[in-house]
Amino acid sequence: MTVVTRRDWLMGTVAASVTAMVRRPAYDLQSRTRLILLGTGGGPTPKKAVSAPATLIIANDTPYLVDCGDGVARQWVSADVSLLKLRHIFITHQHSDHNADYGNLILLAWATGLVTSVDAWGPPPLVKMTKLFLELNEYDIRTRIKDEGRAPLEPLVHPHEFNRGGAVMRDENVRVTSVLVDHPLVSPAFAYRFDTADRSIVISGDTARSDNLVALARGADVLVHEAMWLPAIDRILARNPNASRLKKHLLDSHTAAEDCGRVAAAAGVKTLVLSHLVPGGDSSVTDEMWINAASRHFSGRVIVGKDLMEI
Ligand SMILES: [Zn+2]
Ligand SMILES: [Zn+2]
Repeated sequence: MTVVTRRDWLMGTVAASVTAMVRRPAYDLQSRTRLILLGTGGGPTPKKAVSAPATLIIANDTPYLVDCGDGVARQWVSADVSLLKLRHIFITHQHSDHNADYGNLILLAWATGLVTSVDAWGPPPLVKMTKLFLELNEYDIRTRIKDEGRAPLEPLVHPHEFNRGGAVMRDENVRVTSVLVDHPLVSPAFAYRFDTADRSIVISGDTARSDNLVALARGADVLVHEAMWLPAIDRILARNPNASRLKKHLLDSHTAAEDCGRVAAAAGVKTLVLSHLVPGGDSSVTDEMWINAASRHFSGRVIVGKDLMEI
């Protein structure tokens, strides 16, 4: 262990690295904006190897969650973040792989002891979904209030709906902006950009190659983009015999890995993270294959997202 005396310090004889440690103790660790991929598998089908879409941004120790796929509460806890810190939820669009556990996350955080308010932001019918979810679970909520002396949940939950891109919210940690992206037949569908004191992070949501997304991501540090591996689509279709229009949906409303690179290059981002992988958890599509495809038109850093990976 290096012991730094006051004399060393004043005389400037301390090694630069140690100086940096001493001058900036835990401050950097706490203030650095964290990006944690909670779930990286695209689509509503539960998968053995990967969890459903959810991405956590933590700015100044405050979590901002984008999307609530199946299992999000479990993934949140697995990332070693307290559910009592749940504060802001952003839904990109109302597909079940992005909203299936929206209500469950809030309910389970409340059952864990959450007493502070939760703001949820996203497209319609977010207000109706919130109301109906609380109604659906009224028995459990009422029983816990009576049995366990909990404060009512409903007054804590504040859904905010919007149909257009633009400024979403701003607080002391972050400024959040959205644009409309192309994800037929789901409309509106949004991408979000988070600007904090030290980082800019963009989450694509689900979209075909989108010029709006390019504009939103301009100069960002990190773009988390949904990604599809085209040659694997026919294999996916063979597993979904009851979805006759699925192939057309996938081609019209998602982005091939190679095009993710095109978007990242056009936007001039530093790092491209591939997530919402389709197929997700398919070991026949290797990291190298994803990276090679995305790097064809993008010279920056490409990361293949994994559940609970921190970037
Ligand atoms: Zn999706
Ligand atoms: Zn979708």
